[in-house]
Amino acid sequence: MPQTKHIKTSIFALMLLVGTTLLLPARSLATQAYVFTGRTMGTSYAVKLVSAKPLSKSLWQEKINLRLKQINARLSMYQKDSELSRFNAAPTGQAFRVSADFYQVLKQCRDLHTLTAGAWDGTVKPLVDLWGFGTKGRRGTPPKPAQIKTALKRIGFDKLKIGDHVLTKTVPGITLDLGAIAKGYGVDEIARLIRDGGIENYLVEIGGELAGAGKNKHRKTWTVGITNPEKGFLNSGLYKKVRLDNKAIATSGNYRNYFEKNGQIYAHIISPKTGYPVENAVVSASVISDTCTLADGLATALMVMDTHQALALINSLESTECLIIRQDGREKTALRSSGFKTYEIGF
Ligand code: ADP
Ligand code: MG
Repeated sequence: MPQTKHIKTSIFALMLLVGTTLLLPARSLATQAYVFTGRTMGTSYAVKLVSAKPLSKSLWQEKINLRLKQINARLSMYQKDSELSRFNAAPTGQAFRVSADFYQVLKQCRDLHTLTAGAWDGTVKPLVDLWGFGTKGRRGTPPKPAQIKTALKRIGFDKLKIGDHVLTKTVPGITLDLGAIAKGYGVDEIARLIRDGGIENYLVEIGGELAGAGKNKHRKTWTVGITNPEKGFLNSGLYKKVRLDNKAIATSGNYRNYFEKNGQIYAHIISPKTGYPVENAVVSASVISDTCTLADGLATALMVMDTHQALALINSLESTECLIIRQDGREKTALRSSGFKTYEIGF
């Protein structure tokens, strides 16, 4: 009897062992995570891939770098030979042929300009440069009202004629600044590259703008944080955490990029109507949507718009939500669109 018991125990132990070894490879394969980091568009990027199939890290790094380089070569304001810089230097009236990337972004710009009644305007470049937030170097004092008046003559997205893959300036000196949307477009395009490569689980981030799909290596939906907006702080903890399940999130704020003169703060988001940096109680705006291009553009626009109009706009849009943080004195208030809470994680 004891021997039979011994055999039974051994068989049981063997079964357990076989069972575990059979299970182990499947489990460890399913949780393989690959992380890629680097710099692009004057900021950092991070891409996380989770795949059951082993991936070639060097191949994916190369694919990501190549696509980011290509997008930069088209949309960068800082590369003098980029397509965008060449367009900005092009003469009035000339039909300028644009790439598929540029055209995609342009169509989104046109929609944003219309949707936000001009609060979002990709032609703000002369003002952004004048206030020292663009490609012409920084400044510590506000420009003269006469300079702002002159710059305003070169503002207006409707002064651009968009044809089929062609773009024409109808007024001299019209230029584009895609700083409020290019990162979001980069995120969407890297996410597309990943999906086209057959990978369903990913989190893509460029300078704080994100898109996530599938699950992380713990088989959970991706969660990301919204920074607590605090003037002068790059990182002052998290204000909220949200789930990203086949969604993108972008945040715009005026707590990082600004200068102060005589107790007055001048930040990098400019009203295309007044020509002055936006001055209201909104300190940050986050938008969740299906594409990061739209989320990025809208987040910037919400900083410019009146809060009630901003909320009404987001509530009118399909599968798009927002969280606007206002600061009155030391008090911070969060305003949410009707469905934002469904993405929030309480903590
Ligand atoms: P960040 O670059 O910090 O992520 P945003 O996405 O909000 O912030 O983009 C801010 C940039 O957008 C500015 O630096 C400027 O280049 C551009 N910009 C400023 N005001 C406007 C505006 N009213 N409409 C469109 N773009 C703007
Ligand atoms: Mg933006």
